[in-house]
Amino acid sequence: MNVNRCECESPTIGTRHEGSSLVSYCIECGQPLLATTKLPDIDVDTTTYRIHLLAHDKPSVAQLKAVAKVANINLLQAKELAAGPNDATAPMLIFEGRAANVQRHRRDLIEAEVEFTISPEFPYDESAETNTIVFD
Ligand SMILES: [Zn+2]
Repeated sequence: MNVNRCECESPTIGTRHEGSSLVSYCIECGQPLLATTKLPDIDVDTTTYRIHLLAHDKPSVAQLKAVAKVANINLLQAKELAAGPNDATAPMLIFEGRAANVQRHRRDLIEAEVEFTISPEFPYDESAETNTIVFD
């Protein structure tokens, strides 16, 4: 059996998640094909993690852009957010979601030198790969 092509000769292969595996199947007839990929832990982690921004006195444009992207807000809103609340007590929540998304956002924030925290404790290091696009 050729893993790249189904017996029905359809060239179109799809993938779906089954537990912690990524299963390839024929889009034409639905037949599962041999290639099965074990998904990394980070992709099957369904914990909701929260990214909190720490206050920045004079955020750079790069920092604001990274915050805006992660929080899905505009630059002006990011600037207000980065300045911190008036009482400067609670860190500001900028993202809430699954590990795979947190990992992507974390890379952007680190690259832009934004200071933040993740809770609960994020058990993956910066190089942990994620294959899955997950939608929160
Ligand atoms: Zn087929």
